[in-house]
Amino acid sequence: MSITNIVPPSATLAVNERLRRLIEAGRPILHLAFGEAGLPVPEPVLDALRSGGPDNGYGPVAGSLQARAAAAAWFDRRRLPTDPDQVVLAPGSKALLWALLSVLGGDVVLPAPSWVSYAAQAALAGKRVWSVPIASDGAGGVPDPAALEDTLTRAAREGAHPGVLVLTLPDNPTGTVPSADEIRRTVTIAQEHGLTVISDEIYRDLAHEPGAVLSPAELLPERTYVTTGLSKNMALGGWRIGLVRVPDTSVGREAREALLGLASEVWSSAPAPMQHVAAYVLSEPPEVVEHIARSRRLHRATASAAHERLAAAGVSCRPPGGGFYLYPDFEPVRSHLAEQHVDGGDALASHLLERYEIGVLSGVAFGDDPGALRCRIATSLLYGNTTAERREALAAEQPAELPWIKASLDRLGAAAADLRL
Ligand code: PMP
Repeated sequence: MSITNIVPPSATLAVNERLRRLIEAGRPILHLAFGEAGLPVPEPVLDALRSGGPDNGYGPVAGSLQARAAAAAWFDRRRLPTDPDQVVLAPGSKALLWALLSVLGGDVVLPAPSWVSYAAQAALAGKRVWSVPIASDGAGGVPDPAALEDTLTRAAREGAHPGVLVLTLPDNPTGTVPSADEIRRTVTIAQEHGLTVISDEIYRDLAHEPGAVLSPAELLPERTYVTTGLSKNMALGGWRIGLVRVPDTSVGREAREALLGLASEVWSSAPAPMQHVAAYVLSEPPEVVEHIARSRRLHRATASAAHERLAAAGVSCRPPGGGFYLYPDFEPVRSHLAEQHVDGGDALASHLLERYEIGVLSGVAFGDDPGALRCRIATSLLYGNTTAERREALAAEQPAELPWIKASLDRLGAAAADLRL
């Protein structure tokens, strides 16, 4: 019997496991490679899980009406009027992204760099990927408009059919938020070329200015699918709570039926107790709003402090606008790195690990040019090794000054400066 290995392990999960093993073996690794929000679960959220615990039925594939109604109201408060029937819950938005890429017709257009799993999922769904670089002077999460036009023209010339454009706002890996103008330009091109948009808004509430985030669904409601979940804003990644909002159109309803068909054969429903959690969190009681506001402040302060350290060392990097990532470009120190035989993203990540014990994820994992000296840094892993430290980080007025966070930031800054020597 032969095993068909269709997909290699996700780069981000694989590097996390590798670094955790090195840490367990006693290596003093500064682990900046995994996109986990790294914060404790608030007590009222644990209460919601406890009270949902006895609910052990499968329930409807789309999710309970209570959870879907809470999600619909949550979208309403973000300028996206929504009926509960437009919402589907699932064990994580990753599953929904795969399902969407499978049921929506046409090839997939992705910004480069973009989140590690889109391209892998597109391949799994048998779709061709058209990769379009982000603007060198703009935010990530959206492709450069001119390059997008060029790619779509080239695709048409080759007789190909790009059908779906995936956008990420705020973005992983760049930690930036596309401006309203950048979204408008992108959506206009998508509309002109008949593309459907998947807007991955899982970091939305962690934008430094959440109210300023313009969803493509506000501009192109009939053709935009919005995915989100509680993994990032509430740091509940391991609880696997994701959701999608489909358009209120006949095609949107058809897509929902197709999604539900896939869901019914693959995961049946989101875990019932987690739907209670979703209903509670998405109703946004004051303690949840307060927790997310504190998380946003902590992510912002830490990412901004890391950005300052990198900038001081002469590394170029877009300033953070949301979430907990930075995407530095070590091009300014290319000649120094070349002396160490470091000539691309993978070699850069290996060099940072071997020479400085700093774990980052190579830009290559995000579909970036292999020769570019770029990598992703997740600053959310710096909040502490214990729940007590993480709680203190969350409560601190100036978290980047806490000794354990400051020490890690200084270590990053020193390594970046040493690359010049
Ligand atoms: N989209 C992006 C951009 C992400 O960073 C992640 C998690 N790293 C996901 C989707 C998937 O999140 P989940 O499955 O936990 O909802």
